[in-house]
This record gives sequence, C-alpha cells and structure tokens, in this order.
Amino acid sequence: METKVVKFGGSSLADAEHFRKVAAIIREDPARRFVVASAPGKRFSGDTKVTDLLYSCYERASGGEDIEEAFEEIVGRYTSIIDELNLDLSLDKEFAQIKNAFLCHAGRDYIASRGEYLSAKLLASYLGFTFLDAATVIFFNEDGTFNEKLTNTILAAKLHSLPNAVIPGFYGAMPNNTIKTFSRGGSDVSGSIVSRAANADLYENWTDVSGFLMADPRIVTNPKSIRTITYQELRELSYMGASVLHEDAVFPVRFAAIPINIRNTNAPEAPGTLILPSQNHPDYERGNIVTGIAGKKGFCTFILEKDRMNDEVGFGRKVLSVFEKHNVCFEHLPSGIDTMCIVVNEKDIEDIKDTLIHEICQAVEPDTVNVDRNLALIAVVGCGMVKAKGTALRIFRAVSNADINIRMIDQGSSELNIILGVDESDFETALRAIYQEFAENNVIK
Ligand code: ASP
Repeated sequence: METKVVKFGGSSLADAEHFRKVAAIIREDPARRFVVASAPGKRFSGDTKVTDLLYSCYERASGGEDIEEAFEEIVGRYTSIIDELNLDLSLDKEFAQIKNAFLCHAGRDYIASRGEYLSAKLLASYLGFTFLDAATVIFFNEDGTFNEKLTNTILAAKLHSLPNAVIPGFYGAMPNNTIKTFSRGGSDVSGSIVSRAANADLYENWTDVSGFLMADPRIVTNPKSIRTITYQELRELSYMGASVLHEDAVFPVRFAAIPINIRNTNAPEAPGTLILPSQNHPDYERGNIVTGIAGKKGFCTFILEKDRMNDEVGFGRKVLSVFEKHNVCFEHLPSGIDTMCIVVNEKDIEDIKDTLIHEICQAVEPDTVNVDRNLALIAVVGCGMVKAKGTALRIFRAVSNADINIRMIDQGSSELNIILGVDESDFETALRAIYQEFAENNVIK
C-alpha cells in the first residue's frame, strides 16, 4: 500500500477552521498515514505564532516576571480549537505540566517544543490517530547534530508497527533525554525524517502557498509558479533566499529519493510544486531553461592583488585558512591571474574585518587587499541551462539593458546556476530584468 507522510505548517493549524480543512485532506486519501504537525501559527496578520508566545513566556519566566496572562493566552489558543471542534479531549494535565515547567525554569527548547506537542495531541485526537511523541523516536547526538542512524532504526520500526500516527514536528531528544529543537521552521525537517523512516512514496508538505514561484513575489509582480524542481535546484534557490521549505529539509528524503510535494491547505486542488530527486525522474517537466531566480543582499568581497600570484603554490590555501580560523564560510572565489576575490557574508566579518586583513597580509604578503561592500548576489538556477546556448548572453543583456553594472560573475561547472553580483541598490531592478527576460521565453529550442 502506498504511504504518504503529510506535514502541516503552523498556518495550516492556526485555528479550528484549519483543523477541519486538514482533517478533510488527510481523510481524502488513505495513503496519508503519517502526519507531522507544527504549532498553531498566525490566524491573521499581526497575530502571534504559538511558538513565539512560548518563547516570550519563557523570557518572562526567566526574568522572574509573572507569566499568568501570557500562559493563559497559549492555553486559550488550544482550548478554542478543542471547543470549536467539539472534541472530547482535555489537555488540562498537559497545561499544568507545562506551567510547572515554566516555573521550574525548564530549558528553552523544551518550552518551545510544547507548541508542536500539544498541537499533535489535539490533531491525533481529532483524527482518531495514534499520538507518537517525537522525543521517543527522533534523536540528536551529544554535539547537537541529528542522529540519523539511531532515529532511522527506532522510528522505522515504530512506524512499521502503526497503521497511522501524528508526530509533533520541530524537536527530538538528546542522549540525556532532554528535549532539543531544530532551528526555526524545523517541522519541515521532522517531516522529511519521518518520510525517510516510513520509506514513504511521497512527502507532502502542506502550507499556505501553492508551491514555489519563479521569483520572490515581493520583488516581481505575479511571478509564474514552478511545477517541478530538482532537490539540487531547490538547494541553490533556498540558499539564495527563496524560502518556503526549511533549508535542511531536503537531506533526509534526498538520500532515499523520495519526492516532496509542496501543497496549499487553502487550495488543495492546486498541484503545487513537486520536488524530485533529479531531472531524469519521469515526472520532471523538461524543456524549461530557467527554473527560478533568487538572491540576497549583504555580501562583501575581499579583493587581493599580488604580482605573480599564480606562481605561488599554496597561496589560496593560506588565504582561506585565515577565514577558516575565524569560522567564516566563503561563498564564492572568483579569481584572475594575479587577483583573488573571496565573497563572504557581511554579517560574518563585521567585527573582525581589520583582523582578517591583518592576518591575510601576514600570511601571503599581497600587494593590496581591499574590501568591497554592499554586494547583492542573484542566482539564476535551472538544469535546462546546460543545454540552452546563449543563456548567459540573455541574462547579461537583460541586466545591461536595465543600465546595471555587474560586479561579479560565477558559473558553477555543473552549469546549474549562473550567479551575478550587483550593487545592493540595483538588486531588485536586476532581478526583475532577468525574470522578465525568461518569463515569456523560457523554452529550450
Ligand atoms: N513552530 C516552529 C516555528 O515556528 C517550528 C515549525 O513550525 O516548523 O519555527
């Protein structure tokens, strides 16, 4: 029998009306056996997510402030759902335990995880599914990294024994049994972990948008939606700022080649975006040149010049070891014969810029070192670019026609993306110009 893992984000579980929609979606397809739940999100703009209510209640308790009112607000979010759904369920025992945890100064992660814990309990009761606590099946290593091996063994065996289950997203257990959460939005990662352990045919990730768009709708008006995308393309786009799915959510399913389908709880008829292991998958829609365009501001470039740099074996290693020593990741390394550029995130070097320059000078004695700031990067991503001659020309012509200077170019050897750097002030105009170029004429000839 086919198995689908379905993860519902906070906006899909914000109130009773959404719980009804979620239950209808699950009941419509018997393959939707394993459900991963987020904590209730915002019901309207200006509302606060339960996770944020928990964090702020935690801050109050840690500061010795009264939490009565803040705690009642959290309780109210769940009781209103229970009441409106007419559920024969009381979470009073759980509320008392959590309140006590606040007063005993339990850990921040434990407190934050209770949003998902209660949400999953409620949904399990509404659906008549088994509640499976993530703390008993998802594990971290001592150093805080995800323990894939142990999780897979225990979770797979558990899921195998159950016809269905609701599992809270966002958290798991440390070796000493304390609770640890993933980073924000981490229920996406939990969904992926459950999909892998269940050996699911599909991981459906239900949210409040009908999949990915070709560009950020805050920059481009009405961008086209993406029907299919590979994991690799998605990685490139998410890394560069396209955010629908948590950055780390791809890894567990990627290993098992399980497709992810991003769907909209408020428009279940829309097919959404299908994320596939590779472009060789039969469902991948071939023929497009560019799959998506994304970008971010906030980069800067260290520009080193030294005569006969190219003859100096070990030059690059010595420069990069300075960045490594200060735990700074580099993004790109566009280089010339006697120049080397290191593109980094501005926020990573803000406080140590002068130290880095000093240590680079000591390590390789360059003729000059300059730091060029206010750089924005734009990634044009698409497997189809490999086959389409003239794509770079079209990108650069579009940017040039918009009267924008390109400060950096990088094309990965996989030809999956072309990355350009422009002034932060030109970022939006450049992105729009590239989108316009491919919006209507995006077919490999
Ligand atoms: N509730 C958590 C958050 O708001 C995790 C999640 O929803 O994925 O980040």
